[in-house]
Amino acid sequence: MTLTIQFAANSAQWEEYEPLLRDALDARGLDYTLSTDVPPDQVDYIVYSPDSKVKDFTPFTRLKAVLNLWAGVEKVVGNQTLTVPLCRMVDDAGLTQGMVEWVTGHALRHHLGMDAHIQNPDHKWTPKPPPLARERKVAMLGLGELGQACAAQLVALGFDVHGWSRTEKSVNGVTCHHGNDGLIDALTDAQIIVLLLPDTPATTNVINSNTLDLTAKGAFLINPGRGPLIDDDALIAALDSGQIAHATLDVFRIEPLPQDHPFWAHPQVTITPHIASATRPKTAAQVVAMNIHRNETGEGLLHVVDRTAGY
Ligand code: NDP
Repeated sequence: MTLTIQFAANSAQWEEYEPLLRDALDARGLDYTLSTDVPPDQVDYIVYSPDSKVKDFTPFTRLKAVLNLWAGVEKVVGNQTLTVPLCRMVDDAGLTQGMVEWVTGHALRHHLGMDAHIQNPDHKWTPKPPPLARERKVAMLGLGELGQACAAQLVALGFDVHGWSRTEKSVNGVTCHHGNDGLIDALTDAQIIVLLLPDTPATTNVINSNTLDLTAKGAFLINPGRGPLIDDDALIAALDSGQIAHATLDVFRIEPLPQDHPFWAHPQVTITPHIASATRPKTAAQVVAMNIHRNETGEGLLHVVDRTAGY
């Protein structure tokens, strides 16, 4: 039977995705129709992003799965009208690789103290070599697809990487912690903290005045995860006191970050506009086709979101 696939992600992306999805679906030998506009009761699969116009899944009576183009699912995971499997984007060749590059770049910026040399208006000659990576503890909060890949790169560079997850994990080269006590162990004396946790009720404000006090004095915070992971006021206080030397923030509670938010004017904050890692259409289309093919051949969907855990 011919499958009906609706592209219901951000409509501006259709032009770019359509040929890539067709190539990927053809390569899997699937018999399908692909369109942005299909009667809901005929749709088998929805290619989705949280900025889609589709908010009510009730009319999609024969839907088999929703394939999210984003890794983060906080905007759709609680949708009570969605009762079929929701898959999130896991794409080693695109999304993950982009995140590894972004996190490593920003970690090395702080580790090497590059800013002091890039901005040196008084031409000061201050020969202060940075420590070696192995002398720095990194706390990787989140040891999922992205956290593990970033941790592996930082381990390869020699950093003393500690990771934190909800469930117990074992990751090569990483000292793993989990649960509430594990968070304390991961953060205590950490000099670089990277947030790659999902936005769930359990992770809201995980970075707060208490947890910020655990880090080494003058630590660097890097957040490509989600804005609500951080209590903004507590972070500003920690920056002002010198407890945190610099925060590099890619994601915010409100995006775009409002012009009057104190982060914009703070000299120790670097803001990037939610670009740590974008979904790359070329490789993401392959992931979507692979997952539909798996479901149709009985292999089972990959990357299905756990609705109870919220990610
Ligand atoms: P995963 O679901 O693979 O990993 C999430 C990790 O967080 C897991 O290790 C999980 O633990 C851990 N975690 C979840 N809840 C808790 C908790 N309550 N306590 C401790 N640990 C917890 O997600 P990804 O790695 O693929 O992505 C992570 C996040 O990165 C996304 O949710 C998204 O918000 C963000 N992101 C940002 C992008 C950007 O451009 N800025 C791009 C892509 C993603 P466990 O292993 O035990 O399940």
